[in-house]
Amino acid sequence: MSDTLMATYRRLPVTFERGEGAWLWDTEGKRYLDAITGIAVCGLGHAHPAVKAAICEQAGALVHTSNIYGIQQQQILGDNLTRLSGMDRVFFANSGAEANEAAIKIARLYGHRKGINNPAILVMENSFHGRTLATLSATGNRKVQAGFEPLVQGFVRVPFGDFDAIKEVAQNGASVVAVLVEPVQGEGGVNIPPADYLNSIRTLCDEQGWLMMLDEIQTGMGRTGRMFAHQHNGILPDVMTLAKGLGNGVPIGACLAKGAATEVLGPGSHGSTFGGNPLACRVGNAVIETLESENLVARAAALSERFLTGFQAAFQSNKSVTDIRASGLLIGIELDRPCTELVSQALNEGLLINVTADKVIRLLPPLILTDQETDQVIETVGTLVDNFLSASQPK
Ligand SMILES: *Cc1c(COP(=O)(O)O)cnc(C)c1O
Repeated sequence: MSDTLMATYRRLPVTFERGEGAWLWDTEGKRYLDAITGIAVCGLGHAHPAVKAAICEQAGALVHTSNIYGIQQQQILGDNLTRLSGMDRVFFANSGAEANEAAIKIARLYGHRKGINNPAILVMENSFHGRTLATLSATGNRKVQAGFEPLVQGFVRVPFGDFDAIKEVAQNGASVVAVLVEPVQGEGGVNIPPADYLNSIRTLCDEQGWLMMLDEIQTGMGRTGRMFAHQHNGILPDVMTLAKGLGNGVPIGACLAKGAATEVLGPGSHGSTFGGNPLACRVGNAVIETLESENLVARAAALSERFLTGFQAAFQSNKSVTDIRASGLLIGIELDRPCTELVSQALNEGLLINVTADKVIRLLPPLILTDQETDQVIETVGTLVDNFLSASQPK
């Protein structure tokens, strides 16, 4: 490989040429089962006919005009997303980080309008919100922040999943105006909070007049077995951000707002050249249509059960597998030792997986996976982990 690209990524020694469903083919013609889907992006798998048709048809009609004009597909996607979520309005961006930037700006403006001069946003340890300056400042991972100081001010951090820690901040009367939290931490290690965590945050936000802002960039669009992860809790946030699965690989981000948060941004206070363009929105609409017509959200929930049962059986007697957890098709297998090598070992076996937080094997398979493909992932991961554990020592 030549070195004309900035060294921002530690890349695996493989280049893919083509995909179909849950499968990818590299430039040598070798086939791989994709259990990571470009990090929770291609929920419908690769080269889905509906996505292909949406891209091709829209490319032949109109790709870009500008947000100084009406955009029909953006309007339709706004209608779709608010219908599915119960939120009121949407701002479209091009990525997850950009969607979170919009959320952070909403929180700041909302605070200033309440007369709070130094509005702070409560964020979590081990969170991930993106790589722009504001979103990396919100992120709870020093590796993401190191070297980029001075960080953006105005974030207060507490441990994830610990509601008492949030309550304590509320009692100390800090200038908090919003809470920004992932329903399940993806990058942080597939961390699932206590079942009533979001409900408690909702109640507290109502009491305090804080905005409850959910980063559903990884958990949204059916990934957890509901269209949006917070729907497991029967609550609504004030702000929710989406990206990854929304475009199935075509870049798009969205920031949804409800109630008081809806009226905060006005003409001149935020915008994007590409955000909400006809092509990206057309694909977003095709993704939603497909998730609904093929019942894929319920399918994600059913597949999750199959994965859990399979992995529990495979690792039943293995004490070095310390936890198996899943929220839909966001699946984590935690080992008692760092296991990053497993990624390239799986690659050799023709399986794409990921390791996050050093010790957690993360799977983000497509929602269109068949039962047989599911069993193949379980079996391959089972063998890989067994071999890895017997050839290494706990740390
Ligand atoms: C991936 C991710 C982001 C960042 O999205 P980009 O499109 O890479 O900017 C933000 N939050 C969460 C929870 C994510 O998983």
